Amino acid sequence: MNEIEEVKSRLDIAEVVGQHVQLQKAGRSLKGLCPFHTEKTPSFIVTPDRQTWHCFGACGTGGDVISFVMKKEGLDFIEALKLLADRAGVKLPERTRTQENKHKYERLYAANEAAVSWFRQLLTDADAASGARAYLERRGIDSSTGEAFKLGYSQDSWDGLRDHLRDKGFSNEELIAAGLIIEGEKSPYDRFRGRLMFPIQDPKGHIVGFGARALDDSTPKYLNTPQTAIFDKGSLLYGFDRAQPAIRLEAQAVIVEGYMDVIAAHQHGFDNVIASMGTALTERQVRILKRSAPRVVLALDADAAGTEAAVRGHDVIRDSAETSENVVPVMNWRGLVTYQSSVSIELNVAVLPEGKDPDDVIRGDVDEWRRLVEGAQPVLDFRLDTAANAQNLDSPSERSALVREFLPLLTAVTDPIVRAHYLQRLGTRARVSERDLGSMLRRSRTSGPDNREQERSPGAIRRGDPKEEFLLALLLRYPQIHDEGVDVTSELLWESENRQILEIWKDSEDQEGLNDALPMELQPHLERLLDRRLPSYDTKEAIAALYDCVAKLEARQTKADKRSSEALLSAIEETLGPAAMSADGDSNPDDEQTREFESALNRDMETGLKLHARERSDPQTRIETGANG
Ligand SMILES: [Zn+2]
Repeated sequence: MNEIEEVKSRLDIAEVVGQHVQLQKAGRSLKGLCPFHTEKTPSFIVTPDRQTWHCFGACGTGGDVISFVMKKEGLDFIEALKLLADRAGVKLPERTRTQENKHKYERLYAANEAAVSWFRQLLTDADAASGARAYLERRGIDSSTGEAFKLGYSQDSWDGLRDHLRDKGFSNEELIAAGLIIEGEKSPYDRFRGRLMFPIQDPKGHIVGFGARALDDSTPKYLNTPQTAIFDKGSLLYGFDRAQPAIRLEAQAVIVEGYMDVIAAHQHGFDNVIASMGTALTERQVRILKRSAPRVVLALDADAAGTEAAVRGHDVIRDSAETSENVVPVMNWRGLVTYQSSVSIELNVAVLPEGKDPDDVIRGDVDEWRRLVEGAQPVLDFRLDTAANAQNLDSPSERSALVREFLPLLTAVTDPIVRAHYLQRLGTRARVSERDLGSMLRRSRTSGPDNREQERSPGAIRRGDPKEEFLLALLLRYPQIHDEGVDVTSELLWESENRQILEIWKDSEDQEGLNDALPMELQPHLERLLDRRLPSYDTKEAIAALYDCVAKLEARQTKADKRSSEALLSAIEETLGPAAMSADGDSNPDDEQTREFESALNRDMETGLKLHARERSDPQTRIETGANG
């Protein structure tokens, strides 16, 4: 549950609305005079079951508790959310993208940018950089590739970069914040000394930090920028800014471990290759990749693949390299399987030949690289094969060890057919019946220490409105239906977070524009929408799915109208009693209650007709959208 849902779940809409509108019971709903238009007879309905409000009089609109407060108090979404969060006692995340912070970030980008120019110039011209140049030559990196990746050299000095950047107008504070210099006892000094420099860019192409390789026996061999306001290892992928078009085009990303592997791959035309920044893959990185490609191949070296070194054995590791307080969540095999099944990304593993890294393979024989990537195995098959190969399956105790190792991975698989497939494969190898494995699996699911994690895993528990979220996910995934999407009435969406995202989306040029315009508070919700599973559609099918979903939302609206008008009508009937219902001429047409009754009756007939018309026009043959429910 994100903060917005938390706020909504802690408040009762009847209570919030009740402070502005006098509400009376009307069946399972509450009725009152609409606070947004002038009326004598109530058309304003609050439905506590759904936590919605609705005016089917002059306004013809409705929504949730947030949109009520927005409208009533004249606030924007964030202001209303803050007011209600206060009331509900929910702490909202601090907004970090203030104007001031934006300026701070710009300065950090600029400092890194200036450092890149300095390092590049040293690499090309400085005598001291001859070792670095020789290293690149040995690794077969030509100068145009070096330029494309902005490779550089940091001189072996304590103050060279510091003094240069101070001359350029950067303060010590800024350079420390960028991770370029380190606070010293007397004065700050350069972090990177005598190293080959690999600038690291975010997906937008900003330089956010560096990887730096020692050219002698210095340790560590690779030194990275520490965690800074703009450098977050767990959410960066080396080379991604350059690789993204190829990743989209090929619908596949290949992840390697080293910077040099990425550079060599690109030099040989494999532009979809990126690296995971020294740590193993994180959830955050997979989320980012998932937006560009449905398939990811992890190229692991032979040693790492057998053990769990590449895909660390813990869900969370402490990143030991100088950022000891920085905990990076890292996926182990089970995490990978969970992610694969919940976000519908296809994770595959390619194992490199013994003793070789991707750079060796690519430089040796590009066809071998192609074969390796094409032959990559789904992560579960790979894991089962390696686990089975590591055991002597004639030994009962080793077969038992195989089951103990592999079964927990299957707890993450939600699709029963996929699970049955792997239970069968495991059963054959371990010589255990599928039924026995199945019951062991169920036991480990309910009692395992990992059970709680499973619940927290992405996609495990979803709140929110499936139809509304489907509609938004569709628009976000298929930019080619933008024109059709702009016509969708945002008031069809009852959850204000969805309505808000739709409105901002309509005003945005593209995904990037949306990201920039979207308030921080809505980011988690946007990410959930981007992670939603969708069938793959061509443009025509996507449009059909959109129209189908809109039709369902309109039908929902009409049904809600009908339910409200029925509730109003029966409430009036109750107060007037049966005598008033008979048209015996005794009732005074000016009587307020009679007028209310007649208008309620008319409206109920009107909404009934609308609903009837909608149901008749609903075509039977519609594309399956997955938005049912
Ligand atoms: Zn109204």
